[in-house]
Amino acid sequence: MNGRAEALSHYDANRNEHLKALKNLCRIPSVSFAGYPAEEVKRSAKATAEWLKASGLNTVEIWELPGTYPCVYGEWLQAPNAPTILLYAHHDVQPPLREELWNSPSFEPTERDGRLYGRGTADDKAGIAVHAASIAAWLKTTGSLPVNVKVLIEGEEEIGSPNLTAYLQHYRNRLSCDFLVLTDCANYDTGKPSLTTSLRGLITMDVTVSALRSPLHSGMWGGPIPDPVAGLCKIIATLTDEQGRVSVPGLLNNVIPPSGEELADFKALGMTEKLFRQQAGLLEGVDIFAKNEELLVKLWREPAISVNAFRAGGTGAVGNVLMDSAWARIGLRLAPGMDPEHCTRLLVEHLNKVCPWGLHIEVTPEQGAKPWKTRPDHPVFEVAKRSLTRGYGNDAVCIGCGGTIPFVDHFTQILGDVPALLVGIEDPYTNAHSENESLHLGDFDKAVISQIHFFADLAESGL
Ligand SMILES: [Zn+2]
Repeated sequence: MNGRAEALSHYDANRNEHLKALKNLCRIPSVSFAGYPAEEVKRSAKATAEWLKASGLNTVEIWELPGTYPCVYGEWLQAPNAPTILLYAHHDVQPPLREELWNSPSFEPTERDGRLYGRGTADDKAGIAVHAASIAAWLKTTGSLPVNVKVLIEGEEEIGSPNLTAYLQHYRNRLSCDFLVLTDCANYDTGKPSLTTSLRGLITMDVTVSALRSPLHSGMWGGPIPDPVAGLCKIIATLTDEQGRVSVPGLLNNVIPPSGEELADFKALGMTEKLFRQQAGLLEGVDIFAKNEELLVKLWREPAISVNAFRAGGTGAVGNVLMDSAWARIGLRLAPGMDPEHCTRLLVEHLNKVCPWGLHIEVTPEQGAKPWKTRPDHPVFEVAKRSLTRGYGNDAVCIGCGGTIPFVDHFTQILGDVPALLVGIEDPYTNAHSENESLHLGDFDKAVISQIHFFADLAESGL
């Protein structure tokens, strides 16, 4: 592709300018959470729009639906017969948490040991920077891009994208595309380019089990009367088998197992029991329910039940009593293929069915989030892997993510089932959402270079 070399050397020569722009954007405390100043999120939308404009996009707009924080949209659509990609990132950030634990001020981006520290440096203002820098590299040299590009920068990702569906619906025609590039994920390790091809979903519920109107003297009453705390423990014990696997009937029926190719990628990551134990901080002698790459399959592609909280009586305020009731909050991570509503129904039915001794049980489910899986067999994944491998000088891999990112499903739902490339510049040391968030600057360069290649590689692929 003509112009690739020029685009790459443009980034090389202007890298510090982009880094400066990233730092400026990170100085704006664009926290989208309630109780933080709204002006700052609006200010970061404006600064983002200016940066995209400066990168050479010919249309840049700030979109602001009533009662929401603004999205920034930009486009360059002058490559007839070439595919159109929609590049996503978000300009809002998490709150800084405990300022005294930051080694440098949270909103004063600071370079140390090859990393840029500050809230939003990685999550996700670096995503904006990758889009702006890769676009500028082409438009400022050849005056054109090898593909058509749309850019959408959201302002409410950190609070769960409550209005993204509304934006996607309202601007559906403007946002139509052949491929999505969502730059808000993590690499498996520093310098290891990764495409996230699946996410787990989540359902949660409160369970209360009761036997009495109020607690009783355990000596005067204990024995004939069933203990609701033991009853709830029995219920919880039916949720998993001896190997920690979810054992609620029917729940596993629709789980989509990883393909041979995905398994090969997971295996290539070289995960070991020892490393997993160490990363998790698992105590000596405690079992672990899988080995090597099976750990990753379990984490990314199988459901998991956790008792998030459990309460009966109060610590330090205990008499010899028979409690009246017990409460637990149960969370079920859903693997790709599992439907939140169907799984909620199955789990509620099961809890009621196994509740012993005629105890009264009340189950209150909360709203669920769907799992997500893209089609990694689509040829665009090979193209993206090639571009990432070029940019990072290290083989790209497909990985999963055990967590839940609601916005991904919104996109796939509304824009049709377009292939989605989930990439990112976070690494295991980024500390996103915590204190001392940081961006690995070497990986940042590699991410920009990969995307410069991707525009050309995608055009050349003829997809
Ligand atoms: Zn993010």
